[in-house]
Amino acid sequence: MDVEETKASHLSVVLDLSPAHWELSARDQPHNTHPLSLASFLSQLLAFLNAHIACRDENTLAVFGAFPKKSVMLYSSTEPPTNWVSSDTTGNAYPPFNAVDSTVVQRISAELERLESPEGEEVPPSALVGALTKALCYVNRISLPPNPNSKAQANGFHPGVLPDPRILILSVSPDLSTSYIPIMNSIFSAQKLKATIDVCQVYGHNSVFLQQAAHLTGGSYILLERRDALLQYLMMSFLPPPSIRKTLSVPTQDQVDFRAACFCHKKIVDIGFVCSVCLSIYCTPLPVCTTCRTKFPMKTLTRLKAAQPLLLGVAGGVMTNGGNKGTTTNGGR
Ligand SMILES: [Zn+2]
Ligand SMILES: [Zn+2]
Repeated sequence: MDVEETKASHLSVVLDLSPAHWELSARDQPHNTHPLSLASFLSQLLAFLNAHIACRDENTLAVFGAFPKKSVMLYSSTEPPTNWVSSDTTGNAYPPFNAVDSTVVQRISAELERLESPEGEEVPPSALVGALTKALCYVNRISLPPNPNSKAQANGFHPGVLPDPRILILSVSPDLSTSYIPIMNSIFSAQKLKATIDVCQVYGHNSVFLQQAAHLTGGSYILLERRDALLQYLMMSFLPPPSIRKTLSVPTQDQVDFRAACFCHKKIVDIGFVCSVCLSIYCTPLPVCTTCRTKFPMKTLTRLKAAQPLLLGVAGGVMTNGGNKGTTTNGGR
């Protein structure tokens, strides 16, 4: 392996910390043959984070937490916390590992304790997109050219030298269709930053949007089936940086669910109708595009409405406004 492939790497981890879904994940149910509690998840995750730091002295790490309605940065190795309390009672722990472990665990418990749980009210979904956006901003910041006034750079960290920054999303919540547009925008930002997004769906069913995020940024997507082997999945699939994965056999997706959510109802659609001007997606043909206000001729609408049942299983429809040429959605798989 040449030197090029063993450059320092940056890892930003986004943790979905929805208490409701972690409770379901820990429950022993018929469809949940390998219950996984948040505590057990965290201990395996910390071993993985320590392994990432141990791989190379120059490796950097940031951890973001998505709580209901709130996202926070839990740890960053470029700005290490100064006031952390060691959880080590033996005095044998390696200080950099201990700093990550203690800070992440203490901050997560502090945030979870702060959450108020109103009786009978529906728990708001976790702010996964918020945490992902923060991770992208962080990657952007550390990739900037050297700046003598920067606090992160004063800490001995030299930005602009990081190859292959990557983000690992560990999700337990189902897709939130309202977050389709922000997730797509995050994917475009990640592509521009050349950041890979890896996804591990730790609990529940496949996530349509996160599958697309991994696929479009060249990352790996894994739906965790054997949840008693979490650490093994993390180490084997997500520890090697993307440049090394070419020489390894990392699990890939055979099939990616490319469905999109309509802009009108934020519903995941099998067949979508795309505005030929602004590419907004709708679940039904509309006379006026609600995004760009383009009017479509009645003739087109009647034709599309008549063809709607026939479009099942084909690609999708385009609402064309006369001369403009349109594109089709990737409605089917
Ligand atoms: Zn709709
Ligand atoms: Zn439009």
